[in-house]
Amino acid sequence: MPGKPNFKLRAPLVLLATVISLLFSQPASGTSGIKIDARPGVSSTHFKHITIAINNITRFFSDNYKLALQKKMRIIIVPDDQTFAKVLVSDFGYAPAVAHKEAPILGGKALDAKGEYLLVIKAKASHAMPWIIEVACHEIVHWYQYQVAGSKKTGEVKWLAEGCATVIAYQIVGTVTDKTMDQYHREKLNTLRKAAAIPTLRELYSRRDWAAAMDKYGGGAVYSKATAAVLELGQRQGVNSLFYYFINLQKVPPAQAFEQAFGLNMHQFENDMDQKLGKS
Ligand SMILES: [Zn+2]
Repeated sequence: MPGKPNFKLRAPLVLLATVISLLFSQPASGTSGIKIDARPGVSSTHFKHITIAINNITRFFSDNYKLALQKKMRIIIVPDDQTFAKVLVSDFGYAPAVAHKEAPILGGKALDAKGEYLLVIKAKASHAMPWIIEVACHEIVHWYQYQVAGSKKTGEVKWLAEGCATVIAYQIVGTVTDKTMDQYHREKLNTLRKAAAIPTLRELYSRRDWAAAMDKYGGGAVYSKATAAVLELGQRQGVNSLFYYFINLQKVPPAQAFEQAFGLNMHQFENDMDQKLGKS
């Protein structure tokens, strides 16, 4: 696998474990402006893996693109739906009724707030570690996208914004657990195979397109299509190439940013993927 997130994980693990055990008893303030607050009931294993994953994703961006988030990150890890709902009310400004309705459905919630990036992650004992880490890292990638390209331009081609957030998250999951990119690829293809209908990538452009497709095709088909297409890009060009699309997006429109990042014509690639991943 290309990229650097596999960096010498084992050697610093002992040291990290020590640091983490110190941090665990209280909200931790890292040197890079990351504060991780584990609420009572979160297991030390969950806390440890999430902390390593968050360190790995910030390293991924600083090593590959010399990028650091400009705001502080505050991450709250909760053990259950009730605590999740409480945080939605106290830190995200939700009305209690809405918070209690949404808490059981959501795995995490991110907010680009004034002065800080805020993320709450649900780490139930029954949740698989790869899934929890994926949720957390996916949201963090969005913050980097918004920082370099702005939220408006990032949202112009949603399948790339969502797919890249997920595939970069998969790469980080692979540094903390033994789940591989190939396993994810098979899962996505399986979901698409079982879907009643699959959206074309051109149906997944604007935020409005995305919402309409979610209604029409369901979340499984929509996210899997976007992710499977980006997995293909990652396989051809390397996962580290994916974020150059957003860096290029600062200066040029999406199709040009795509061509510069991947050396491919965007619409041609979309057509190829629609054929390859569509219903035959
Ligand atoms: Zn997303």
